[in-house]
Amino acid sequence: MLASLLLEPGRLELRDIEIPKAGPGEVIVRIRAALTCGTDLKTFRRGHPKIPTPTPLGHEFSGDIFEIGDGVTDFKVGDQIMTAPTAPCGECVYCKKDLENLCNWAIENMVHGAYAEYVRVPAHIVQHNMFKKPEHLTYGEAAMLEPLSCVVYGMDQVNVQATDTVLVIGAGAIGLLHIMVARVLGAGRIVVAGHRENRLKLARALGADVAIDANIENTYEKIMDLTEGLGADVVIECTGQLAVWEAAPSLARRGGTVILFGGLPSGTQASFDTYRLHYDQITLKGVFHYTRAAVKKAYQLLVDKKIRVNGLISGTYSLSDLKQVFDTLIQKGSGIKFNVVPPDTEPETGKAG
Ligand SMILES: [Zn+2]
Ligand SMILES: [Zn+2]
Repeated sequence: MLASLLLEPGRLELRDIEIPKAGPGEVIVRIRAALTCGTDLKTFRRGHPKIPTPTPLGHEFSGDIFEIGDGVTDFKVGDQIMTAPTAPCGECVYCKKDLENLCNWAIENMVHGAYAEYVRVPAHIVQHNMFKKPEHLTYGEAAMLEPLSCVVYGMDQVNVQATDTVLVIGAGAIGLLHIMVARVLGAGRIVVAGHRENRLKLARALGADVAIDANIENTYEKIMDLTEGLGADVVIECTGQLAVWEAAPSLARRGGTVILFGGLPSGTQASFDTYRLHYDQITLKGVFHYTRAAVKKAYQLLVDKKIRVNGLISGTYSLSDLKQVFDTLIQKGSGIKFNVVPPDTEPETGKAG
């Protein structure tokens, strides 16, 4: 089978390798959709502390069951599936403290390698975080389960109210997913700040009430204007940029919450105005990954079409063009997410939306 391998940052190679075999409890999935993700891009550009090279890449995927291992009873060959690429161990100190998202073992055993014709899914994931994909979801939409699970987990850390102004900073895939989830949770007003006109337009279409073009408007002044000088109840940082992390507390109201979603390279130091954190009692909350409960919620949002993620997929490309796709995302900054499929995958028709 064809499989893409990242030899070191910047060096991607398409190789012809053996199709993996399903061990006990495992399944082999024939890939029908694999979405590009900021994490893959980061890994491709500069390496990733949690993903040492050489490594296969790609973790947002869906497809058909090609082979099942001994003991698999919930799925059969030919089933259309969607899955998260990790599942927690259930036994470590974090799992026991209701912090499955911090389970190291889950991350160490994460599935990478969806940019391929087939991928193996380990038994614990098959058991906990894999689902049958309903016909009315496209494979592309179903592959959105992982990023949506992360967003659902993050949003679960704040209790969004109908009177709240939620400010989402960054209008990439993650920012756009936050906007859609905030809408479902009943946020009173959703404001998005970003730099690209086409993304801001999309953000408005997906549920943002106000879009701030940070190229021509001052985000601080605009949010103060909109909130009578109070600041946003909830600020969600979705850019992974140090300057934005540091600016985020100034955009929150007294007693407000800042969600720090976009990760930075390890060792990065940020500074904040202590007055705001203490006397204005602003909560800074880092969020990472997801729990099984968040995956179930995300699955339900997709299946019920409460969230329509199709607009985030900017195009479909063949696996052999993966490097080009990364270059397009990095250099031109165009597109939100791309679907990368094995050669000869039949195109999906009609039912998206
Ligand atoms: Zn991802
Ligand atoms: Zn654990």
